[in-house]
Amino acid sequence: MLSTKFFYIKLIAVLLMCFSVVVFGQSAIEKKRALMSKQETKGKRPGKNQDEQGIIHPDFTIGLMSSSDIQGTFKAGQNKQEVKGRLNLDLMTSPELLERGVIEGRDVTLALFGVDYTKIAAKRANGKNTGAIGFSAAKSDGPISFKVDRTSGIISATIAGTVDNAVLSDYAREGAKDPRGFNDFIPVPFQRATLDLQIMLDEPLSAKAPRRAAKKKGFVSYKLNVRSSKQPQISGYTIAAKFPFIFDLYPYLLVEVGRNLCVQPVQILEKVTDPDPTGDYLAVGMTGADTEWNKADVTFTVRPFKQVVNPAWKVASSSERAAIRASVEDDDCIEMFFVENHDPVDLSGGGAAWGGGTATSQIVTSDGNNNGIDNTHLAHELGHVLGLHHPWETGSASMPPASYGTLLCGSGWMNDNPQVNSQENKDLLSNPLLQFTLKKVSATVDCNDSTDCGPTC
Ligand SMILES: [Zn+2]
Repeated sequence: MLSTKFFYIKLIAVLLMCFSVVVFGQSAIEKKRALMSKQETKGKRPGKNQDEQGIIHPDFTIGLMSSSDIQGTFKAGQNKQEVKGRLNLDLMTSPELLERGVIEGRDVTLALFGVDYTKIAAKRANGKNTGAIGFSAAKSDGPISFKVDRTSGIISATIAGTVDNAVLSDYAREGAKDPRGFNDFIPVPFQRATLDLQIMLDEPLSAKAPRRAAKKKGFVSYKLNVRSSKQPQISGYTIAAKFPFIFDLYPYLLVEVGRNLCVQPVQILEKVTDPDPTGDYLAVGMTGADTEWNKADVTFTVRPFKQVVNPAWKVASSSERAAIRASVEDDDCIEMFFVENHDPVDLSGGGAAWGGGTATSQIVTSDGNNNGIDNTHLAHELGHVLGLHHPWETGSASMPPASYGTLLCGSGWMNDNPQVNSQENKDLLSNPLLQFTLKKVSATVDCNDSTDCGPTC
């Protein structure tokens, strides 16, 4: 809108100049041009990386990363509990932005483990009464903006976002049966929250790009304010703490943040001595997931199989999936349940994910995908776990739509998802259980976004 308006102003100015050539001759044009250039610079003071409209396009040169074990005091009314967890920060800036006291955040998440759900909600019918709470920053508002206080050097932000837990995941809104697999993502409700974050470094950040990665010590203090939920009924609460903290400062153009997600495969046994438990699709499914997500600097840590004994679940119908999901719930790892087959076999296109981009996301899939065709199916479901919606969906604050033409396109049963991943998917993905590390920059995504990955699914 602004640029269109600007174009018309320029167009009128050009027409005026042409008119003045005819009427007043060359010297009037020179005067007009001088006047215009004076007016354009007045009050704008264009600096480095600033376009003619004064908008700054920062070339980030300074990266700040942390993936730290943290503590927290969980408070709900009169109830209190000490909990542990992890805070993930992926921030960047430049000398120009630091001069203006600005740091941008690409990803900020918080995960707390072992939280006593009975302090905030009724006892669950299935599943554990303690578990994870995950916070994700809203993605719809663009990058998260941090401020650097000039005198104290304190880096701070108040971040709007959403919180998940296993009580909320019990209220999954199961869609209608869709054999083509477009209902393979099953949303769960969340609670709205804000995270107040303050970082105090022992020494202030120097306004120079670092040559190599270095550790910066300091303190972090945070307060997560979670609003109450009506359905299911969960009261509001806070989690807060202040503790010593280490930041990795790194040269943004040479080093980047790699992210690792823990996944917990679960196999189903007919009886304790079952010689043929489920899980045949794990190896093929993870090969596809590694291939596609390594392109976006995401790796997976696959824990050894956990086992569940239940003869009824080897062939699972839609109505059995809630109980299957409740049978294993790890606080710090994403469960992937393998049934032998679904009933019908093409239920959800072979498998589904519950909750997107959350600490309590889960996958139920089937060994039926081990058919030589659906090799990227598990990679697609893990895409939902990493917080990406189908490209054609509107998405939400916590779950933006992925790029068209990529593996987040639905494919359905016996039809593989595209073996394509994008820079946009890499930039948008998030999950509170991801652990960050630094790695050398490597560009291996196939394309940027919907414009060059493929216009459709
Ligand atoms: Zn899907």
